[in-house]
Amino acid sequence: MINVPELFGSNVFNDDVMKEKLPKPVYKSLKKTINDGDPLDESMANAVAHAMKEWAIEMGCTHYTHWFQPLTGITAEKHDSFITPDGDGKVIMTFSGKELIKGEPDASSFPNGGIRATFEARGYTAWDPTSPVFAKDGTLYIPTAFASYTGEVLDKKTPLLRSMQFLSKEAVRILKLFGKDDVNRVITTVGAEQEYFLIDKNMYDARPDLIFTGRTLFGAKAPKGQELDDHYFGAIKTRVAEFMAELDRELWSYGILSKTKHNEVAPSQHEVAPIYATTNVAVDNNELLMELLKKTAEKFDLVCLLHEKPFAGVNGSGKHNNWSMFTNTGENLLKPGKNPSENTQFLLFLAAIVKAVDEYQDLLRISVASAGNDHRLGANEAPPSIMSVFLGDDLTAVVDSIEIGEEHESEGKVTMDLGVEVLPSLKKDTTDRNRTSPFAFTGNRFEFRMLGSSVNVATPNTVLNTIVAEELKEFADQLEKVKDFKRAAKRLIVRTFKKHDRIIFNGDNYSEDWVHEAERRGLLNLKSVPMAVKHYLDEKNIRLFTENGVFTREELMARYEVDLETYAKLINIEAHTMLDMAKKDIIPAVTAYVKELTDTALAKKALSADIPVVLETELITDLSQKLVCFSNKITELENDLIKAGEFESDIQEYADFYCDTVFADMQALRAICDDMETETASDYWPYPSYGEMLFGV
Ligand code: ADP
Ligand code: MG
Repeated sequence: MINVPELFGSNVFNDDVMKEKLPKPVYKSLKKTINDGDPLDESMANAVAHAMKEWAIEMGCTHYTHWFQPLTGITAEKHDSFITPDGDGKVIMTFSGKELIKGEPDASSFPNGGIRATFEARGYTAWDPTSPVFAKDGTLYIPTAFASYTGEVLDKKTPLLRSMQFLSKEAVRILKLFGKDDVNRVITTVGAEQEYFLIDKNMYDARPDLIFTGRTLFGAKAPKGQELDDHYFGAIKTRVAEFMAELDRELWSYGILSKTKHNEVAPSQHEVAPIYATTNVAVDNNELLMELLKKTAEKFDLVCLLHEKPFAGVNGSGKHNNWSMFTNTGENLLKPGKNPSENTQFLLFLAAIVKAVDEYQDLLRISVASAGNDHRLGANEAPPSIMSVFLGDDLTAVVDSIEIGEEHESEGKVTMDLGVEVLPSLKKDTTDRNRTSPFAFTGNRFEFRMLGSSVNVATPNTVLNTIVAEELKEFADQLEKVKDFKRAAKRLIVRTFKKHDRIIFNGDNYSEDWVHEAERRGLLNLKSVPMAVKHYLDEKNIRLFTENGVFTREELMARYEVDLETYAKLINIEAHTMLDMAKKDIIPAVTAYVKELTDTALAKKALSADIPVVLETELITDLSQKLVCFSNKITELENDLIKAGEFESDIQEYADFYCDTVFADMQALRAICDDMETETASDYWPYPSYGEMLFGV
């Protein structure tokens, strides 16, 4: 039997440990920083470091690391041991406050978009005391923020913390107007639902494309996909169930509130979701969760794929970012209450969000932009690259009535009778679910659904917090000046909804009609990374970030460049992997099969001219023609890869070329290959098939 309460957080320097190991005044002061956002009292750093080290050694640690989130999209860590020479040829274990607070990793080898030249490589990491320290694989992990010597941030964490601070400040201003003087802090919360694929390790090892790029670059559809809807919520296979149980144990030990697990739509696809936490903790937890998914899979001879689109033709993987705002007094600001139409405070926050999404559609889209996610957005399992807000019928009716100035009586929860006496009667929600909206109100939070499965959730939340805070700021600026606040607030709500109602859409986001309708409404449809990321540099966006201290102009420019550079590099790696596979494995395989067919035909003919060789001849002709075509496409791709070099001096043109030309070449190459795969004997095909991979566990 496993004792979950005891296991939970056992690898974390948690509250119990802190209480036990820290001197009382130090404990109290640290808790004030963690809970109330008070500035860190650095004079107590030595005491905290000492306690952490003692605990870490008990946990079997010999090293510590400043754990940070550079723009590579994965976490980074450099391990230092606790040893110090004692002067007599021996060592003692030490860890100082200075070492806890500040680290100095070399900044030059991380993507920085030209901010840092290699000769000025200095970078700093700074301890984030609001996210818990943990012990893993013999090392004490300290969550940190990462910046360059000159202070430009080079990570995903710092802007997130800045955006949380900005949102807190503006939300508190609004709440003061409602007379909530006891509120001095507002935090944002995130619950990130994580999708992933699990495949057998042997199959993975036989696919260079999975190894180098995380997705299959070739592969004909299996005879069966997800058309029967028999995987979603289906019974979990034993091997997978054992993996999930082990994963839960791991997650709980690191204090991650793993709650829900189930099979997803595509074969071999699954989901895990924790209970929500304060945003920066949720971000760290999700980064750790992705790592633990991969590590745990290895124990079962499985590989966890976090790519957004590992397999063509079946669903890709996303991450749903459930987001809301809470006051330090425990009030969820996105809870509509029994009668939302009378809940001015709720409606004001709602109006700010609707306005924010409308005015900053581009930024929300950018915040989820990646080469992998381009395969999903717009394909039919993920919301398209068009932003819109789903409010549901009830809330939309409230908004409509506000717009025309009538009262709307909310239905509240309705009881549903299942017609069987022994079954309990259920309270049903006033709105049905809408699975197709990129940004859906789900009762007490918004669910941002455009995120790809591998993304660091820091960036989408940085944008979300910043744009909402900006609108709250604008509202507060106006409302603080008026005499009759309640009346002015109501009028502001009406004005805002009227002006921004084009962004509200409750219909089917996957339909072709919506694409046209959205265009008519003037909404953006940014289909690719290069198209989206360009908008980082729109004057309105630069102003938003710089005026509110979330990014400097240089930091924004850096992010723009890093995003485009990363995109071009990824497509480049994919293209080269394809060429390698095509030339070294696929052409030889098909040629060998053609040779066998030819040998057979010749042998038959030698035996007797009467034996028909029509089948062989047809196949030989067909495959030979396709091989020529395939080889031509290889040449085209190779030529375009050379041509790409001409654009290198302009990062936008460079990325555009990869998107419009190189990627198109790759698609064409794949199409012929997949066609040949269906005609080639499996014994000859060099890679595990889709059927084997998707149904092999
Ligand atoms: P569904 O699959 O129906 O969207 P799940 O229960 O799988 O729902 O996931 C919902 C996620 O939303 C969970 O991570 C949950 O903790 C989170 N969540 C619930 N309330 C809030 C909130 N107020 N703020 C942020 N996240 C929330
Ligand atoms: Mg969900």
